Amino acid sequence: MSAQLIQNSLSHLKTYFGYDSFRTHQSEIIEHVLNKKDALVVMPTGGGKSMCFQLPALSFEGVTLVISPLIALMKDQVDGLKSNGIEAEFFNSTQTPETQQEIKSKVANKELKLLYTAPESLSGLQEILNENYISCVAVDEAHCISSWGHDFRPSYQQLGFLKRSLPNTPVLALTATADKTTRKDILKQLSIPKAKVFLSSFDRENIFLEVRTANQRLKQIENFLLKRKDESGIVYSLSRKSTEKLAQDLTQKGFKAKAYHAGLDAETRTKIQEEFVYDKTQIICATVAFGMGIDKSNVRWVIHYNMPKNIEGYYQEIGRSGRDGLKANALMFHSYADVIQYKRFNENGSNQEVQDAKLERMKQFAEATSCRRRILLGYFGEHLTENCGFCDVCKNPPRFIDARLIAQKALSAVARVKQQEPIGVIIDILRGAKNAGVYDKGYQELSTYGIGTDISWKDWQHYILQLINLGYIEIAFHRKNALEFTPLAKQVLFEGEQVWLTKPKAEQAGGIETKKASKTSNLFNQLKQLRMQISVEENIPPYLVFNDATLKEMENLRPQSEEEFKSISGVNSLKAEKYADEFIEVINLFNTKKRKKKTSTYQETYRLYKEGKSIEDVAEERNLKTTTIISHLCKLYSEGKSIALSEHISDSEVREVENVLKKIDYEGALKPIFEALEEKMSYGKIRIAIAMLDK
Ligand code: ADP
Ligand code: ZN
Repeated sequence: MSAQLIQNSLSHLKTYFGYDSFRTHQSEIIEHVLNKKDALVVMPTGGGKSMCFQLPALSFEGVTLVISPLIALMKDQVDGLKSNGIEAEFFNSTQTPETQQEIKSKVANKELKLLYTAPESLSGLQEILNENYISCVAVDEAHCISSWGHDFRPSYQQLGFLKRSLPNTPVLALTATADKTTRKDILKQLSIPKAKVFLSSFDRENIFLEVRTANQRLKQIENFLLKRKDESGIVYSLSRKSTEKLAQDLTQKGFKAKAYHAGLDAETRTKIQEEFVYDKTQIICATVAFGMGIDKSNVRWVIHYNMPKNIEGYYQEIGRSGRDGLKANALMFHSYADVIQYKRFNENGSNQEVQDAKLERMKQFAEATSCRRRILLGYFGEHLTENCGFCDVCKNPPRFIDARLIAQKALSAVARVKQQEPIGVIIDILRGAKNAGVYDKGYQELSTYGIGTDISWKDWQHYILQLINLGYIEIAFHRKNALEFTPLAKQVLFEGEQVWLTKPKAEQAGGIETKKASKTSNLFNQLKQLRMQISVEENIPPYLVFNDATLKEMENLRPQSEEEFKSISGVNSLKAEKYADEFIEVINLFNTKKRKKKTSTYQETYRLYKEGKSIEDVAEERNLKTTTIISHLCKLYSEGKSIALSEHISDSEVREVENVLKKIDYEGALKPIFEALEEKMSYGKIRIAIAMLDK
């Protein structure tokens, strides 16, 4: 029976959602729920939790009641379901009594598959809260029930009554918060002590993790964004003021950016959020107030302008990117100023020790010289056995250098100013700076003045921060951040201890490209335009029409029929019927244009060549390189056009190339052949020889 049930769900998955297979754990969970058993699902954001109750809902006779904390979130989910042809509604206090009555009738008539509501609105549903109508209860964002969790909502705590009044109805709790205490709390408070717990990996493999030092952040951000002109993203920063400043700066540089923070009134906030979801605003500069309840799957990057205060926050915020499974970037800037500010916060707050310890872990992550993903997941108790290969450290491992002399210089500078100065002044002294900070105190007289002019300011900063991280120096937060020694410093200064530090990296391009060069993504952009048009016409967010992953697959597969269109992941029956024609039209138009362009360039070369012009002449007339003309001729030759390639190469030269081809694995690259021939034959000739040998 179970097998049949899961088979039905699999076919629903394709019909309603357009997907071909389950993700990890989904099928087990769905089967469990269909067998009317309670469960707690712990899965990272974007893991596909919703499917775990949406699919069973389609198989149950009655309605599945979904408890969700946020009205905005409910609306998006319901819109998404409706656009997939699923009967769903939400029920809340903003609706008129008539609408509410209508919805309840729909439940009573078994016309609804899913009904979303907030805990506060449950009392309005009394009449239908019985097992004649309700087939399943799903509690989304279930961690809200626990005062241990970070989003505690008192209204969630009354939800235990659901299981007591609907004892035979499966209750499914879902959350992206992993810790044990919260998990226990959820089971207890929902009165489902025996619920099976499904724990998924917290690895978001598609997010590239990167940390950079905060020098010239704005410039770095601008460079990052220039390569991602139409990709949505979020810049998180600490203060309301900085979100506004950033939005302003980015707008000035030509990006569509808006600020979002708790100081704005609710209406403005909703509007800004909506413009983002509808792809009208590309960038949101926000405090951490932004994001919870944003269900936008095509957020391609998240930037932390400031380091988050703990790893939980960091993980949650980067998790808002890449929910469609396509590659996404998480870029964090790290500066000591942030650390110092948090230290101050913590001092005045409760729970200082815990907060400081969490900050320390965050700092370790930021300063890591080994795989960041291993550190991140390790924090949540998940231990990868290998490096991820998809973080900045893996991509570009640090190189260590013998830095004993560098360390000695820095430490002596600290000693000479009697451990009274912060990092900036120390570097100025080392570099022999001529500014008031130095002259006012006569530091230009010190023996350490100017002993480090060979190292740039930025690199000194890099080295000294490492000395701090490695425990040779400390920042005395109570003495204006003066640098002071730890006992370890003496070993370097007086006992000549070895010190290994990482070499500063040149400012790299950074991030990973989330799409190929603009040429190939042309079609992708056109598909996006069509999606936008549909989004406006139907008033649903673009990502609910099709997500980016689905458009990518369209770009790659270029379907030519409704049947082929339907085979694409993310295209369900309803959408295939509705949109196949429009999308296929865009694809065909693109294909013919491209073909035309290609044929015409070959045709043009052929025409001129046939007029008797030399390769060089054709090249000059067409303003192309001779190698390009040669490759045109080779192509025309291989298509059977009469081109006398042999006029451009001798027999013995062809034989030479033939001999090389016997020895190497030729995969289309000419360079190995060029090198094997000791760089004596031109690339053009090699190409000609290959074309002739191919025939
Ligand atoms: P969560 O609630 O865990 O954050 P969602 O349920 O919103 O995640 O799912 C994230 C994305 O993954 C959505 O775009 C959803 O359509 C997609 N998704 C879910 N299950 C599958 C699947 N089996 N195959 C492909 N995509 C899926
Ligand atoms: Zn890694």
